Amino acid sequence: LLSRLKDPSLVTEKALIAGEWVGASAGSATFEVTNPANGDVIATLPDLGRAETARAIDAAYTAQKTWAAKTGKERAAILRRLYDLMVKNADDLAAILTMEMGKPLAEAKGEILYGASYVEWFGEEAKRIYGDTIPGHQADKRIIVIKQPVGVVGAITPWNFPNAMLARKFAPAIAAGCAMISKPASETPLSALALALLAERAGLPAGVFSVVTSSDSASIGKEFTENDKVRKLTFTGSTNVGRILMRQGADQIMKLGLELGGNAPFIVFDDADLDAAVEGAMVSKYRNNGQTCVCANRLYVQAGVYDEFARKLSEKVAELKVGDGFEEGVKAGPLITEKALEKVEEHIADAVSSGARILLGGKPDEKGGLFFQPTVLTGVTSEMKVAREETFGPVAPLFRFETEEDVIAMANNTEFGLASYFYAKDMSKVFRVAEALEYGMVGINTGLISTEVAPFGGIKQSGQGREGSKYGIEDYLEIKYLCLSV
Ligand code: ADP
Repeated sequence: LLSRLKDPSLVTEKALIAGEWVGASAGSATFEVTNPANGDVIATLPDLGRAETARAIDAAYTAQKTWAAKTGKERAAILRRLYDLMVKNADDLAAILTMEMGKPLAEAKGEILYGASYVEWFGEEAKRIYGDTIPGHQADKRIIVIKQPVGVVGAITPWNFPNAMLARKFAPAIAAGCAMISKPASETPLSALALALLAERAGLPAGVFSVVTSSDSASIGKEFTENDKVRKLTFTGSTNVGRILMRQGADQIMKLGLELGGNAPFIVFDDADLDAAVEGAMVSKYRNNGQTCVCANRLYVQAGVYDEFARKLSEKVAELKVGDGFEEGVKAGPLITEKALEKVEEHIADAVSSGARILLGGKPDEKGGLFFQPTVLTGVTSEMKVAREETFGPVAPLFRFETEEDVIAMANNTEFGLASYFYAKDMSKVFRVAEALEYGMVGINTGLISTEVAPFGGIKQSGQGREGSKYGIEDYLEIKYLCLSV
């Protein structure tokens, strides 16, 4: 790994706890980070627990007060420097990301710039944390509303976007004047540590940001939810773990930001621009090898264009080159773990046993390891697992539908409500469908919806809160109202 980097010091085998870089001491527990493309061990990190997390929380509690007392402009300047450093080191950060997570290098670089865009955006927002004045309810009363940082925030993030999922929590928290302790996924801690190194170089004061490396997420989650110095927990991951954390946080009425699972419908109506719909399906379904929470999970295609769409889509999917993310032209890297690969196989086997047909792929790739063939299934119906569960892999199941009413009912028939997509031209249908879909986000004639300027988030069991946009910073602020008698 180090030989690929212009600045090898961006890889560290130490955690950042309370302003100090902490390595594994002799005899203490460690865990290994492996490259999913070939199983090679790329780093060995200290396996920390509740005691170190508590130490980081104590330091954050103290540091946060000083950090919050700075002006928005001062906080913005540090975030701007961090943004510049992320852009300057984007190639190295991308290589670290590909090495620990597997996505193609070009996609990894895209993620770094996407993550950096949140740092830039929220740095700018730091200067615009406006309050309000409200006309008094009595002649002698003046009412002023101010916004203050919530305080110490715990962040638990997943492996599928090791940089961006953290950056879009870190940036608004730090901009608002909070302090943060982050627990990255044990599969991908190096990207989080690299971000912390750059934040330190950008001038972020010691203790404001810690990174706890651990293979025992449950313990860290307990410390976050039971330590009363932590005022907010922000989590991106599965709905199941979100539910556990919500229960654990109940005792101290923990503020929660939850970005949980999705089961995105992708609807193609008869009047759609079919080539555009195929393009959209490619990015929405196969980006990150199908391992994003906004990936199209169910593709509903109206009867009149079903066969043509299936043919055009599989032609494009057949062109996807599978392989190591560092290889030129690779568009589909490995899946993250053996468990992930088994889930994909299980979903395909279940669909096929109930009558679905494999139009393309369907098997582990001949490269072996964690590589899987990009797959297209036809004849899929709503009883199959692919209809109800997030596959999180390169499988496009194509459902046939007849009417707008039918497809809306099918699309909404899930406990999830994160992203949805549809392709249509008729304007009144566009508005009808967009308003009827029970989702936090709707991509209309586009398969790519993520940007720092828009509010990302889900409804129903896909979570609560929003990340990005002017709304994103509100999740890290408390409202205080001052009632003044004059
Ligand atoms: P994924 O399918 O993305 O791995 P998870 O929800 O299992 O989804 O994991 C997301 C993050 O949550 C990871 O960082 C993982 O280590 C962490 N995690 C898993 N279980 C728990 C738990 N019980 N408490 C706190 N964090 C957890």
